[in-house]
Amino acid sequence: MFQEKEPVFTPIEHYGEFELIELLTQNFNKQKRSHVVKAVGDDAAVFDAGGPELQLITTDLLAEGVHFDLAYAPLAHLGYKAAIVNFSDIYAMNGRPKSITVGLAVGRRYSVEALEELYKGLRYACEEHNVSLLGGDMTSSRSGLVVAITALGTAPKDRVVYRSGAKEFDLLCLSGDAGGAFAGLQILQREKSVFEQNPEVQPDLSGYEYVVERQLRPQARQDVVEFLEQEKILPTAMIDVSDGIASEVHHICRASDCGAAVYQAKLPVDYQTQQTAEAFGLEGTTYALYGGEDYELLFTVDQKYYDQVATNPALTIIGHIMDKSQGVRLAQADNSVVDLKPKGFNHFAKEEERQGED
Ligand code: ADP
Ligand code: MG
Repeated sequence: MFQEKEPVFTPIEHYGEFELIELLTQNFNKQKRSHVVKAVGDDAAVFDAGGPELQLITTDLLAEGVHFDLAYAPLAHLGYKAAIVNFSDIYAMNGRPKSITVGLAVGRRYSVEALEELYKGLRYACEEHNVSLLGGDMTSSRSGLVVAITALGTAPKDRVVYRSGAKEFDLLCLSGDAGGAFAGLQILQREKSVFEQNPEVQPDLSGYEYVVERQLRPQARQDVVEFLEQEKILPTAMIDVSDGIASEVHHICRASDCGAAVYQAKLPVDYQTQQTAEAFGLEGTTYALYGGEDYELLFTVDQKYYDQVATNPALTIIGHIMDKSQGVRLAQADNSVVDLKPKGFNHFAKEEERQGED
């Protein structure tokens, strides 16, 4: 008798997100098609439909219980954020968003009014960024709410910026400040658990308004793309910060085949972010490096643009690009230099715990 071989199933957590995407997409696009300029692997895909502009396309999905918690995320904010995170990926290609489609899976407990709130936020984001709603799809859901948005955008052919062009000695620049969205999440989760333990106690967010707003209602940096255009600066590489600076610097370095140095002391961290980090026994710069969802733009430019970048209060030079052999390093505030690991906050927190146990 032949024994049937048991099929082997690999749990998804054996792969990181990016390895899994690579595994699943490796056998696509083997045949070169001239209209596909960039498929998987950047903030948005790029294709050439003829004409002076290239077309940009990106999809981002927000799932209840994973990306948001309706205990503290108002639906209008959620609609706004779902659109903004997509616009951010278009800006990260140095392009401009033009239109979206919206996919919704909706659980039974949602009312019409709730969905109207969601669409109010969506509409606000579209108006703010001059974007049209083209259509979408809607279905019921057995579990929570899922919002999947696809954004289409354009950029002049000679202005598209990929993750892959960074060169040794380029300046590494960041818009706005970092770590705030993660700080806001920490505060919201803390207030939620206080409320769950004692519903008499009303959430107190005073002194944390900025970071809570960074979490619930992030901005997409259209102004940075406009600044770069006005100043005639073409970044060599660009990415938006959805997963924390450490992870994004690694994406740029991997795509550009280079190393980098990040100066911890230069990381722009808001006062409220620092306050929050301290309340949780950490440093604000740790949130900046390993937290996520700031939706700032991280880009590299040639050193000749130093003055133009350094004098813009919306931008900070946080490091520079090095040869690949130098690796990706963090120059710490005390001048010591360590490897900068491409971890997200959860991994980081786990390591801290382990270190604490040793
Ligand atoms: P971002 O954080 O900029 O939104 P992601 O990390 O979501 O980028 O995606 C990285 C790359 O992988 C992108 O080029 C994206 O199009 C691609 N990608 C993500 N998920 C899938 C998928 N399920 N199938 C194919 N490609 C995917
Ligand atoms: Mg991105």
